[in-house]
Amino acid sequence: MNLEAFILGCGGMMPLPNRHLTSVLLRREGELFLFDGGEGTQVSLRKLNLRWKKISVIFISHTHADHVTGLPGLLMLSSQVDREEPLYIIGPPRIAEYIESSRRVLDMYINYEIVVKEITSPGVVYEGEGYRVRAFPLRHTKPCYGYTLEEEGRPGEFHPEKAAEMGVPRGPLWSRLQSGETVETPEGVLVKPTDVLGPPRSGRKFSFVTDTLAFPEIAREVEGSDFFVCEGMFEKDLEESAREKKHMTAEQAARIARDAKVRKLALIHYSPRYNEYNLKGLLKEAEAIFPDTILSRDRMVYPIEYID
Ligand SMILES: [Zn+2]
Repeated sequence: MNLEAFILGCGGMMPLPNRHLTSVLLRREGELFLFDGGEGTQVSLRKLNLRWKKISVIFISHTHADHVTGLPGLLMLSSQVDREEPLYIIGPPRIAEYIESSRRVLDMYINYEIVVKEITSPGVVYEGEGYRVRAFPLRHTKPCYGYTLEEEGRPGEFHPEKAAEMGVPRGPLWSRLQSGETVETPEGVLVKPTDVLGPPRSGRKFSFVTDTLAFPEIAREVEGSDFFVCEGMFEKDLEESAREKKHMTAEQAARIARDAKVRKLALIHYSPRYNEYNLKGLLKEAEAIFPDTILSRDRMVYPIEYID
């Protein structure tokens, strides 16, 4: 099953000529999820040829302009789209008011249902077939949430030679065993999935954390992520000022990635003070702590693979 992250925008505060504001799209086997929607979200969606119509849920970290001003345009664009399923928008308090007032003032005639859910308590905020999304509180200048999308574990690897040995003929019985059912062979022998499958394998985990102070609980929430997108807004010289603004440095993001034993850290939400050249300074500081770090770039695509 494919799982890919598309960075639609990687900037913080204000857009730059080559950098839209923070937005990440996750595609899981044809289903799309959007995490934040800053200015430029639509432009990147178009450039990447991604189908807006397939977005099931939009998760919003907080209601600051650089994370939500792409939404009205996105919803407007979608007003003519024919879709059956509702669109969910999940986020902090006042997200409903923002969506509602935008729809009213901008005269948006949207021909499908939009369900806005304000998070009242952290935990699982959305689940679908084989995955769940958790929200957890961050520490910013207003209510802000981080998110993880975690897949359920998968059954172990199927060993056809064991199935053959036990007299299970190739065909539908094999698939039933692989999906966890006990089957009976033509000779009347009961074969359990554990007889023919290896140990259970883990699913994948994606995490999205931006606009927050660094604090230890973040590592617990994002633990073991295969792809961890995290704010790395400033270099370490500016740690004091980052703290005052309730943001974090690239180095602090790397410490969280290390403590949480993630597989890959992608920095995001860069301060506009960093241009293409000196962004490398952020990367260097993060890599010194956690080598498996990359810089997000607009329209970068990252396939999230299974480990086993
Ligand atoms: Zn921001």
